Amino acid sequence: MDSASIVNKLRAIAGAGNVVSDREELVCYLFNARSRELSEHLPAAAVQPHSAEEVSEILRFANEHAIPVIPRGQGSCLSDNTTIMREQTIILSLSNFRKIEVDPQTLTAVVGPGAVTAEIKAAAAEHGLFYPPDPASFTYSTIGGNVATDAGGLQCVKYGTTKSYVAGLQVVLPNGEIIRCGGKCIKDVTGYNLTQLFVGSEGTLGVVTEIILKLIPQPEGKKAMLAAFADVDSAAGAISRIMVSGVVPSIMEFMDNPLIRAVEEATQSGFPVDAAAMLLIEVDGARNTLDDQANKIRAVCEELGAVHLHIAATDEEAKHVWDARRMSLSALYKKARHRLSGDPAAPIDRLGDELRKLQELGEKYGIIVGCYGHAGDGNVHPCILFDTDDERERAHKLRSEFHEFIISIGGTVSAEHGVGHEKIPYMERQLGKAQLKVMIDVKKAIDPKNIMNPGCMFGEMIHE
Ligand SMILES: Cc1cc2nc3c(=O)[nH]c(=O)nc-3n(C[C@H](O)[C@H](O)[C@H](O)COP(=O)(O)OP(=O)(O)OC[C@H]3O[C@@H](n4cnc5c(N)ncnc54)[C@H](O)[C@@H]3O)c2cc1C
Repeated sequence: MDSASIVNKLRAIAGAGNVVSDREELVCYLFNARSRELSEHLPAAAVQPHSAEEVSEILRFANEHAIPVIPRGQGSCLSDNTTIMREQTIILSLSNFRKIEVDPQTLTAVVGPGAVTAEIKAAAAEHGLFYPPDPASFTYSTIGGNVATDAGGLQCVKYGTTKSYVAGLQVVLPNGEIIRCGGKCIKDVTGYNLTQLFVGSEGTLGVVTEIILKLIPQPEGKKAMLAAFADVDSAAGAISRIMVSGVVPSIMEFMDNPLIRAVEEATQSGFPVDAAAMLLIEVDGARNTLDDQANKIRAVCEELGAVHLHIAATDEEAKHVWDARRMSLSALYKKARHRLSGDPAAPIDRLGDELRKLQELGEKYGIIVGCYGHAGDGNVHPCILFDTDDERERAHKLRSEFHEFIISIGGTVSAEHGVGHEKIPYMERQLGKAQLKVMIDVKKAIDPKNIMNPGCMFGEMIHE
């Protein structure tokens, strides 16, 4: 079907004002936060429906004519999850689905997928409630995107990732059927757990049009601290020891020296630029427990030889530290023309090996690797920086070798950004042939014409 016919049909369904068809505007959808090499296929149109019924009509039409559809939040994904692979793709934006209804009686919130995560956190806080998942992008990424990638973040070390808070979903399937799975019940084992199947499915199985989120009471208080170390091994040792010390930090972030320097240059936060590694830690809970928790962590850090320890005196000071930490990615962007990033994770007792291997590979390939991450859950973000074509080749080799290592120690190549198009080469190696086949069979059962975000997660393996 040609673009003009697709545009006309979308206008008839969603209204002319809700369909973008100008080339100049459509170019924007080629980009996401990760994209460097842009797709050669401009989408046929971008549509912004207002209801699940309109989404249903769009998918029914797309399915009938085998037209690809990519659901879209804010495009802040980091694994090339929204890359357009085929001609005449429809971009389906959820920007009109911004409802947020907090229900304090059931400790839940019913939200639209287009609501920004920070808005949900703020609405929950008005009722003394807490929505914990906090990807560093939470001030602009949408909850639909968070659900579709099972987004993690800083506080996941204590509170878990997005999936722990998704109680129910409304989903429009590729054939246009609208289903509801899960709900407000605390317990529900009627049938397979489809709710969790859609979480992390990266828009490959359907369009999420409503989400029921679990909320918890706000912790009474929190305390942030910074610990700097003269070598990476001591910092890694401190992380493992803290995790089994009986205190569960609400945040435990790691930064290596190139990262500390980059962030300090960008934010002038007073970070110790000579330290080999730094931990940013927060504890939360009842106010009368905070000093005790902080002291236990301080004792572990001192025992492991911390060269600098500082506890934030005020909430304002702590906020400044977390804002600086959230600048990590943009601070590193300035350090080289190109970079390869990632989100691997290792079992927490292998964190030291994970960090050592990165340093070793950086030296082997002569490439600068900056590393930060949610160290308390073994999840790091290596940033492999390069400028030239020769360095590019070495950077790719470095990342491949690192991913192979991560798999060999029982880790995962993606802890929170998803497979997208970036991690497809590692799927079989990590999951094994049989498990991968089950996943592809599920995709084919729900989306037999492969219209939903085609290419994402399975690439060409879908045709094997
Ligand atoms: C500076 C920076 C920091 C980041 N920090 C973190 C972090 O700490 N932790 C983390 O996990 N991620 C992080 N991210 C990655 C990113 O923000 C998350 O993946 C986020 O969940 C994407 O949300 P989005 O609204 O931008 O979705 P998009 O990027 O638009 O889409 C992401 C995926 O979700 C699908 N999708 C979107 N909406 C729907 C829907 N309604 N139904 C079905 N599928 C849908 C899309 O098709 C796509 O596959 C960061 C990104 C940046 C740029």
